[in-house]
Amino acid sequence: MCGIVGYIGTQQAAPLLLEGLTRLEHRGYDSAGVAVLGSGLRVAKKAGRVRDLSADLPKRFGGKIGIGHTRWATHGPANDVNAHPHVDAKGDVAVVHNGIIDNAAALREQLTDEGVELVSDTDTEVLAHLVARSTAETLEERVAEALAAIEGTYGVAVLHADFPDRIVVARNGSPLIIGVGDKEMHVASDLGALVRYTTTVAHLDDGEMATVTATGFTTYRQDLTRVQRTATQVDVDPASYDAGEHESFMRKEMLEQPAAAERVLRGRLDERFGTAHLGGLNMDARETREIRRVKILGCGSAYYVGQMGASLVEELARIPADAEAASEFRYRNPIIEHDTLYVAVSQSGETIDTLLAVQEIRRKGGRVIGLVNVVGSAIARECDGGIYLHAGPEVAVASTKALTNMFLGFALLALQLGRVRDLSISEGKRLIDALTAIPAQLQEVLDGEDRLAEIATGLAQAESLFFVGRVRGFPVAREGAQKFKEISYRHAEAYQTSELKHGPLALISPEVPTVAVVPDDELTERNVGALHEIAARRGPLVVVTHPDVDLRGLDVQRIDVPRSARELDPILLTIPLQLLAFHAAQVLGHDIDKPRNLAKSVTVE
Ligand code: GLU
Repeated sequence: MCGIVGYIGTQQAAPLLLEGLTRLEHRGYDSAGVAVLGSGLRVAKKAGRVRDLSADLPKRFGGKIGIGHTRWATHGPANDVNAHPHVDAKGDVAVVHNGIIDNAAALREQLTDEGVELVSDTDTEVLAHLVARSTAETLEERVAEALAAIEGTYGVAVLHADFPDRIVVARNGSPLIIGVGDKEMHVASDLGALVRYTTTVAHLDDGEMATVTATGFTTYRQDLTRVQRTATQVDVDPASYDAGEHESFMRKEMLEQPAAAERVLRGRLDERFGTAHLGGLNMDARETREIRRVKILGCGSAYYVGQMGASLVEELARIPADAEAASEFRYRNPIIEHDTLYVAVSQSGETIDTLLAVQEIRRKGGRVIGLVNVVGSAIARECDGGIYLHAGPEVAVASTKALTNMFLGFALLALQLGRVRDLSISEGKRLIDALTAIPAQLQEVLDGEDRLAEIATGLAQAESLFFVGRVRGFPVAREGAQKFKEISYRHAEAYQTSELKHGPLALISPEVPTVAVVPDDELTERNVGALHEIAARRGPLVVVTHPDVDLRGLDVQRIDVPRSARELDPILLTIPLQLLAFHAAQVLGHDIDKPRNLAKSVTVE
């Protein structure tokens, strides 16, 4: 959440900062601001989008060093005053911050007692005043002193009018990357803001700071002892951060799913022995066999795909498995067992709730692996091993291709766990054949977009909807409801089909449609029975199902997806639900990539 950029070099900073902020806007978009150092420190900030800030930027906003921010408010409403950068009373210090300062209230009180006037509601503002009141000699010492007084998480960048040749940055829980250019340097919280200018980057670790000048950078710990970080070349295609000809990132990313699925499977299928190769797990066969339980942790869609993953593990490896919201996990003093494999799932690898769950597990001596998309991200680095998702950059807040690859990552894990136990080689081969067919089948579902758009137009009219499924269809329904509500803002509730008559059936009416997930499996008959009960109450039905399923004369809008191996069916059933949500949001005229109140990569608790 929230984006930070910084520039120091030979060019005018403001246009570069604004361009960088546009690239980061998906990470927070309630307000934006920039500060530049030219003849004095100047700040422009505004509630709303980066384009509003650009439109209003004063004509003369010169300076070759600057910082910028796009905010996702945690402390105080999204208004001009609360937007970052924050400055001290004299206007010498400017600070941008990503994260939360936990002891902000106490620090505000202390500063107020000292006569400092705080103008915003934010936690961040205290940092500007703390840096300003320090009498230490160097800017680095002043920033270190200020950081020593705060508790919480941060990525920060600081400018000071008295030190016009540098930006000082620090990291504790929120990413900070330094980009090395030719006589110029960049700073950003996300690679996406840098790749157009440079692919030579250095990552800070938690507890580290850096001084960035036009010609280089030095890194140190917060006690100012030196630590060596060298910049390395990252292998990314800058174009993969652009929407290209697509009207939205979400649509682009949905359509990329077949190619992304191929990437996550590539080199990981062992056809000869009917198993998966996951070298990154860092476990040998004996250790893998010793696992008695699998516990999956994720938030939002990653939690729902974790539930799909738990089914895969139980079905293929016959190991008890379940998924839990990572945001709740550590608050119940969880019992960590040495023979449980913990699996942390996160697209960004920065989701703070998941990261803190990982830390809790490791603190108690548990083994945790990550299913993560962003290489080198915090969760990837904290885990004992993992499976990279190789989905490519995902920009839309609503996750699609990363989610699909999470599912496939779980399929690979379950296959490997199964094959060191009782899953036979022929069963393993059956799954490998099915996995190999998935990319083309994803394409087949995506090809049905026009009809799904038509159905979505109808669903968009409903104020409230149900999404229902059973057993392996239930997480599919949960994910479908999540997508629908997050981008269409319609009330969408997921239920187990079997639970309808225990309560929610009371809400079924011609105004409340139900989207039902009905795979061709051992529960088809019962699922179809429940659909008849909905139809009898005149509830409109959209049914996502398989070609051979007989709906016994029901009048429904039917969506058939190709069959896979029974265990892998959930992922193909999920794709139409993405398209339904997308087209409903489009009909309703919403900003699909930046749904209200949300942001990509939830880096605050
Ligand atoms: N806590 C800060 C604020 O509310 C920063 C939030 C962010 O990460 O955007 O302004």
